[in-house]
Amino acid sequence: MNIILLGPPGAGKGTQAHILVDERNMTQLSTGDMLREAKDSGTEMGKIVADVMARGDLVTDEIVIGLIREKLQGEKGGGFIFDGFPRTLPQADALGKLLEECGETLDAVIEMQVDDSALVSRITARSTCAGCGEVYNDITKPIPADETCTKCGQAKGFNRRADDNEDSLKNRLMEYYKKTSPLLGYYYAKGMLESVNGLGEIDEVKASISNALG
Ligand code: AMP
Repeated sequence: MNIILLGPPGAGKGTQAHILVDERNMTQLSTGDMLREAKDSGTEMGKIVADVMARGDLVTDEIVIGLIREKLQGEKGGGFIFDGFPRTLPQADALGKLLEECGETLDAVIEMQVDDSALVSRITARSTCAGCGEVYNDITKPIPADETCTKCGQAKGFNRRADDNEDSLKNRLMEYYKKTSPLLGYYYAKGMLESVNGLGEIDEVKASISNALG
């Protein structure tokens, strides 16, 4: 099964993708993670995208489609979870074609609905384990007192994303409404869209997604 998790920054796509990886043996394809990896390892592409990402603008379709094309040729296990991709209509068209070329289908698009007011507090409170990428939140899921990650058991420290600040978030939200939200209509028209409330506890959202996937 191949699915898309669609929603604004801070909707909880990464958290729910990690759960699906653990429970359904699916493969998470997060273009944000791929771009951050390129940036941190200082590749040519990483240098090109660094400023764009810091501002909260979208990286070009060409770059992200290229990243996804490469990954689709790899192992897929229990199917792919597209997390943060597609973010524009051209990316959605490209994904459809790429899946078709690999003899794959897109089975569901899960929209995670969260109020804008909740996004700012979620994002500014967010950090991830430097060892495994597990997501923590100062309010809803604080880092353990002994600073040992509850998932990987390591104490490698916790990172805050450079673009998780209010200025960048405003721009990321603007990009979402201008360029990504039209995908809701696009997938609705294809009969693929399932919307879940992304505001509840992590387990409640997980249950809603499970329900939607059947
Ligand atoms: P994310 O981790 O999904 O929040 O993505 C972080 C940043 O990476 C975004 O604000 C964009 O600058 C860039 N990015 C990630 N995915 C895409 C995409 N599909 N298209 C364009 N830019 C992207």
